[in-house]
Amino acid sequence: MKTLNYSQDDVLVIFTMDVEPVATADGKTSGPASAAEGARRVRQYADVIGEYGYQPTFFIHPEMAELQADLFNEMRERGAAVELHLHTVKFAHQGRKYPTELGGLPRPLQLEALAAARDRFTEAMGFTPALFRPGCFSANDNTYGVLQELGFAGGSISIPGRTWTKRYCAWAGAMPHPHFANNEFRQLPGNLSFVEIPLSVDRIGGLRTHPVLGFQHYVDLRPGGVYTEEEDSGRDHAVILHNMATQLITEKPVLKTIVIDVHNDRDFVTPNATPAKHLRTILDNLGQEFDPHNLHPVSATMPQTVEYFKTLHPTS
Ligand SMILES: [Zn+2]
Repeated sequence: MKTLNYSQDDVLVIFTMDVEPVATADGKTSGPASAAEGARRVRQYADVIGEYGYQPTFFIHPEMAELQADLFNEMRERGAAVELHLHTVKFAHQGRKYPTELGGLPRPLQLEALAAARDRFTEAMGFTPALFRPGCFSANDNTYGVLQELGFAGGSISIPGRTWTKRYCAWAGAMPHPHFANNEFRQLPGNLSFVEIPLSVDRIGGLRTHPVLGFQHYVDLRPGGVYTEEEDSGRDHAVILHNMATQLITEKPVLKTIVIDVHNDRDFVTPNATPAKHLRTILDNLGQEFDPHNLHPVSATMPQTVEYFKTLHPTS
């Protein structure tokens, strides 16, 4: 196992990307207009954060593993992590589609869909994913146990505070820092070996209602909006990052993390593009937020974070 040199003074900064299938024309699903556009965004994201010394973690939908295995194996060789992403509503197994996102499915269907998605990913990529992120952060109280049963070591399942019931995403009051998952009550730490690394959200800024989609949430650092580059883009990423830093400094979790989520349909390079500006603000401000507190923002992939967390909290 690779030796991890992180210390208690480090803030692990995890730049993730959800790699979505090519969007359908209904305007309601996220995703790039073409596979080529998606590939371009993947490379741009890796390049921009790479300028600052960060390595990305890609959560990829099984169809994109099949379409772009070479690209993601190349990324992996360059130091990125490549893991599994799944929107059950975008996924068909043996010709049958699933009616809801993951959190709306009963336990046997969660097992079936996740096993099928994992197997397709494994077949395409040549290795088995160990970590998972659901589409729309959709989950219910069965999800962590299902993931552990399937052999997943950890993931990024939660978005603390978001309540988007139409997507079966309900994380009010959820534990906002890395923890072992709970087999009965997903918002609290528990005794599973599955390590949950929550998306970072700004709780100091308070709960807000999304201006277009209407769900309740704390804002996070995603560049651009949930579905497009512009909706919900009035957020000041310097303020959000500052509030997240304050949360880490005052709450002193065992492992300090900043987890950022992006999608493979955003423009990360054109100077005036909203996602590009947001991403640069995060990258340019990380040092000044933590340096005065003698904390060091460092690059971490999601597997490195899970592994390091386990060294802090050995299982019995
Ligand atoms: Zn997604």
